[in-house]
Amino acid sequence: MLQVNNIVFSYNKTIAINNVSFSLSKASFICIIGESGCGKSTLLKLIYGLHDLEEGQIFWDKIEVFGPKINLIPGMDFMKYLAQDFDLMPYITVAENVGKYLSNIYPEIKKARINELLEVVEMTQYASVKAKNLSGGQMQRVAIARVLALEPEVLLLDEPFSHIDNFRKNSLRRKLFSYLKEKEITTLIATHDSTDVLSFADEVLVMKRGEIIEKGTPNSIYNNPNSKYTASLFGDVNEITINDKNKFVYPNQLRVVQKSNLKVKIQNSYYRGSHYLIESKSENSTIFFNSNHKIEPNTIIFLEVIDDILNQNH
Ligand code: ADP
Ligand code: MG
Repeated sequence: MLQVNNIVFSYNKTIAINNVSFSLSKASFICIIGESGCGKSTLLKLIYGLHDLEEGQIFWDKIEVFGPKINLIPGMDFMKYLAQDFDLMPYITVAENVGKYLSNIYPEIKKARINELLEVVEMTQYASVKAKNLSGGQMQRVAIARVLALEPEVLLLDEPFSHIDNFRKNSLRRKLFSYLKEKEITTLIATHDSTDVLSFADEVLVMKRGEIIEKGTPNSIYNNPNSKYTASLFGDVNEITINDKNKFVYPNQLRVVQKSNLKVKIQNSYYRGSHYLIESKSENSTIFFNSNHKIEPNTIIFLEVIDDILNQNH
């Protein structure tokens, strides 16, 4: 298991990771979410041993992870790290990139392994294309295959889908994440995209300004966020006072009713494909809610929080 104990790290005196601790059990799938600049990439780099810790320790089982001061060749064998700014070897093919770290002793086994990995990232048909001729998203898929090649025990993925088109992201995510689960690879993924998180993560760590401010299952973090910051990572969110308590309510958790205490005036309707996101104003704040129809500006309507949300939120 991976154990991170009270680690602290600064870039030139500016603190980037401030007393972070957590542990992961083997074969678990953990997502780190948080706004840009909160320290996600730095945390992954520290876990991989690319920087020296100022304080604290990191262990995988009994092995301590050391930074470059002690471990001259940065990185640990049992871990693989996919950087946000991954790089491929431009003048060799996709298949050669994926197989770069695989042994040449059994060429047939190597070839089969490369094919299996290209299948996972949906790049089979590009096997013999030179990396420099690929799009950014295609390069990223090859980079994912390359870090999987040696079947690491721990995989650190930094924004692994940032360059990949939406239409491909969903199927790639499902394929990759089920592959990782099947192989029982412990995975830590940093992302700002909440759709990476909700379906697949066993646990979510929420980071803000170098600290972990919240952790829990995707369901508990989504339904009972401790702060507006956390709730906002999942999209638009309203802070509504119900029975003298402040609740974080997502646009899909509100519905239009005949009469209620929450009276709003419509401002705008934004088309979202499956629905409209409606921007409205209550007495003291802006309220977003979903509707199947566009609503004329200045219409006055009443909103209600749907019941099961009230039961779920404490
Ligand atoms: P995230 O991945 O969540 O966007 P980062 O870990 O990249 O956040 O950055 C955390 C903080 O550290 C930010 O304030 C960023 O500006 C700073 N930072 C990151 N890399 C460096 C660096 N190489 N030198 C100096 N400051 C850095
Ligand atoms: Mg980053």
